[in-house]
Amino acid sequence: MNSKNFSNLPLSKEMLHNLNEIGYMEMTPVQAETLPFILEGRDVIAQAKTGSGKTAAFGIGLLHKLDVKKFRVQALVLCPTRELADQVAKELRTLARFTHNIKILTLCGGAAFGPQLGSLEHGAHIIVGTPGRILKHLSKKTLSLENLETLVLDEADRMLDMGFIEEIDQVLAFAPKEKQTLLFSATYTDEIMSISNKLQKDAVSVKTVSTEVANKITERFYEAGNKLEILVNIFSTFKPENVIVFTNTKLDAKEIAESLQKQNIDALAIHGDLEQYERNDVLVQFANKSCSVLVATDVAARGLDIKELAMVVNYDIPHGEETYTHRIGRTGRAGKEGLAMTLYSVYEIEKALEYKSANRLFEDFTSLKKEKGFEMRPLYVTLVIEGGKKDKVRAGDLLGALTGDAGLAGSSIGKIDIYERQSYVAIEAKLIEHAHKKLQNGKIKGKKFSVWILS
Ligand code: ADP
Ligand code: MG
Repeated sequence: MNSKNFSNLPLSKEMLHNLNEIGYMEMTPVQAETLPFILEGRDVIAQAKTGSGKTAAFGIGLLHKLDVKKFRVQALVLCPTRELADQVAKELRTLARFTHNIKILTLCGGAAFGPQLGSLEHGAHIIVGTPGRILKHLSKKTLSLENLETLVLDEADRMLDMGFIEEIDQVLAFAPKEKQTLLFSATYTDEIMSISNKLQKDAVSVKTVSTEVANKITERFYEAGNKLEILVNIFSTFKPENVIVFTNTKLDAKEIAESLQKQNIDALAIHGDLEQYERNDVLVQFANKSCSVLVATDVAARGLDIKELAMVVNYDIPHGEETYTHRIGRTGRAGKEGLAMTLYSVYEIEKALEYKSANRLFEDFTSLKKEKGFEMRPLYVTLVIEGGKKDKVRAGDLLGALTGDAGLAGSSIGKIDIYERQSYVAIEAKLIEHAHKKLQNGKIKGKKFSVWILS
């Protein structure tokens, strides 16, 4: 008997079949340690690093309990950011595929209130969202938690960092006392423990950090007079396929991305000032390899599940080891070796010294190559189609239109993302104009859609 097998859990045949379908062959450590308790209905507090499969741990748990016939909100997942809520909802939908009628709704700030009202009127089984917006709906009585069975706090540490504690408290005042509360966090702090004591009853505590294979990450530190120049030299020396550059401020994120673009390095910024649709455009382009460099603030990049990130750069010394660990944990995932680079100015030397340890290399920037005419151009460019799930557009339809009428080879088409009203397709850069013209003039599923190039 293998204790990592999902089939050892008391799950339905349909659920097990679906897990197999989506390629979850065995449980990740955090799933193996929490799911038996979650399925018993116990409160659980779990710490595990990013990318360890926490979403499915609570997702399988809450779906298992869900009574589809009872059309009431039975589970609520609170997340720190819109991006994270979208990712959680997406994973839940994948996990819920074994039955067709489970309705999952995201309620996040930054999105229009009106359409959310409309969706709520139609009802939902599961709500995923950010605390502020959920509270607004509760206060306006457009959302009821009377029938709540499961409450999940995802990335609880970050929600606290972002000052959501009051909103969380207020949200909870609307929920029944009797319920299962699951708390997930990448770090365990005193604050997290006190939240757990307050919200949970007799909680099972799980830490999986030690049982997981450590990522192979090479950590290098460079003192830099001109950080932008050193950054470009780092790129030209290591030629990473994809990079996230972390900055401590929104303004820096914007400015650095612009400066890189001027030097023919394809970069996009993501920070709190962008509109929802702009953020989505940026995230899609980075994830589908239409953009090699993402310049981000911590909050904006939180919870992004971008696999196999080649490099992470700290443009400034992060505010503390915890942030540092979180940031660099995005590279070298799934056993791939990652590079974590940290730049510091003369003014930051003291802070940098606090990071000294045996496995961190403090290097001289003169060891970096300076390559004339160095450029970073992505493999793909993204095509946007003004049609999505609402229009019944599926990946196969887009693939069909591009390989059929438009005559592209399947190998020139990258990732396809389909949202409610829009779809994104990564197309090999040199074929983008051709693909654009063909799709614009042709039809998808017998219908005409507006198509444009995202740049
Ligand atoms: P976390 O929330 O811990 O950062 P996620 O829940 O986002 O991590 O999961 C990271 C990735 O691992 C996702 O792409 C998810 O689909 C995948 N994943 C989760 N569980 C399994 C599993 N049992 N087998 C294979 N892949 C999994
Ligand atoms: Mg997560």
